[in-house]
Amino acid sequence: MNYKEALQHPVFKIISQSAKELNLDAYVIGGFVRDFILKRGTAKDIDVVAIGDGIKLAKQVAKNLHNKPKVQVFKTYGTAMLRHDDIEIEFVGARKESYTKDSRNPAVENGSLSDDQNRRDFTINALALNLSESNFGELLDPFNGIQDLEDKIIRTPLDPDITYSDDPLRMLRAIRFATQLNFEIEKKSLDAITKNSARIKIITNERIVTEINKILESKKPSIGFLLLEQTGLLKHFLPEITALKGIDEVEGQRHKDNFYHTLEVVDNIAENTDNLWLRWAALLHDIGKAPTKKFSKKVGWTFHAHEFEGSKMVYHLFKRLKMPLNDKMKFVQKMVFMSSRPIVLAQDMVTDSAVRRLVFDAGDYVEDLMTLCEADITTKNPKKFNKYHNNFKIVREKIVEVEARDHVRNFQPPISGEEIIATFNLKPSREIGIIKEAIKEAILEGEIPNEYEAAYNLMLEKGKKLGLTVGGK
Ligand code: ATP
Repeated sequence: MNYKEALQHPVFKIISQSAKELNLDAYVIGGFVRDFILKRGTAKDIDVVAIGDGIKLAKQVAKNLHNKPKVQVFKTYGTAMLRHDDIEIEFVGARKESYTKDSRNPAVENGSLSDDQNRRDFTINALALNLSESNFGELLDPFNGIQDLEDKIIRTPLDPDITYSDDPLRMLRAIRFATQLNFEIEKKSLDAITKNSARIKIITNERIVTEINKILESKKPSIGFLLLEQTGLLKHFLPEITALKGIDEVEGQRHKDNFYHTLEVVDNIAENTDNLWLRWAALLHDIGKAPTKKFSKKVGWTFHAHEFEGSKMVYHLFKRLKMPLNDKMKFVQKMVFMSSRPIVLAQDMVTDSAVRRLVFDAGDYVEDLMTLCEADITTKNPKKFNKYHNNFKIVREKIVEVEARDHVRNFQPPISGEEIIATFNLKPSREIGIIKEAIKEAILEGEIPNEYEAAYNLMLEKGKKLGLTVGGK
């Protein structure tokens, strides 16, 4: 088979020429070839393997490119990288690897192309295209990767038990590719992942999070989370999610399985947003339910204040996984904390003041919160499903209406603390807080408009009730 058409970009001819000048063979390998055959759009990452010195080849290519890009050399890995236009090209010498038990970093020696293909994680990632002048575009597919692409199968070139044990990150990669590509993982592979799942412990949190993020960014993330749970991997890095699994029954009363519910919510939200952090919020929105679950004869199952508990857990989870403890984390916390607010609202008559309070509390995140809550509707009762969605539609309309009229998003009260102090000639005292709060409440309740004059009059009225006089006399 020949795939010359994959190599139309002029840079491939330059790599080919450079390899010839150094008298070595070079191949494009891995994701670029896979994605070309899958028609996943043109990949911006190209991996080139040289039968010989990969770093030397990178330098030769840079020399032959008109804009002479900088070559970044990673000595420890024996690789080099350069950027050309918007493409990132990574060069490596073909290698043979052998692993020890406690590390995913193998001992490395120079090898042939087939040694290098043997060390690849999956058959679909071991496809190589020849860059030599005489066989330009020739496909080298020793493990029937093309067939596996057609059959939508994830398979390892060598014994899966050894492949996954050598480098446990591959277990996550297998599940991530299965999710991104909607492929099946071969049974033998799945069994090997289950068997080796505890070895995930030697993988750093950063790498684990990279893979979780890619799963979350997929079209249907539940594929990945179900596989992670089924193979026993998930509990090692997201025990908060596995703790949601199961249905308890006491005196004939059951609660829903919050693990499967969560996955439904994540899939739902994936249809409506590409915002990774909103997808994280969907994944974590119910984690407070496991520690707050209680049964009482009177009210059945409750998860009292699970949103508050959940938002605290978000911080610990992010910290443990070495995720950023910045505004992204705060955003997820806020979403989890407020995740029930619009639902309560939508079960009832939607009033202006309730919507104003929602906008006030959620600020700029109110639309994201609505997206989360809409995804949270997983009831199988079509009547309820329609009712909730309709009510959310009303809430969304009212948000726009209320916002245009009352400007309560990022609310700044029309009367400041300083003005209250000056008006009544006060020293710092609790009266200031009382008046400020009364003005805010009156605006949110719709008793007065969010305007200076109305707020000023209310200040005078409240001051009088508190025994204050203008000018403090
Ligand atoms: P994507 O860009 O979507 O992550 P990719 O396949 O290009 O897909 P990379 O992580 O860039 O992924 O890896 C490039 C190639 O290197 C892979 O196609 C595979 O051949 C090989 N590879 C990457 N990681 C491993 C690993 N842990 N074990 C074995 N081979 C690997």
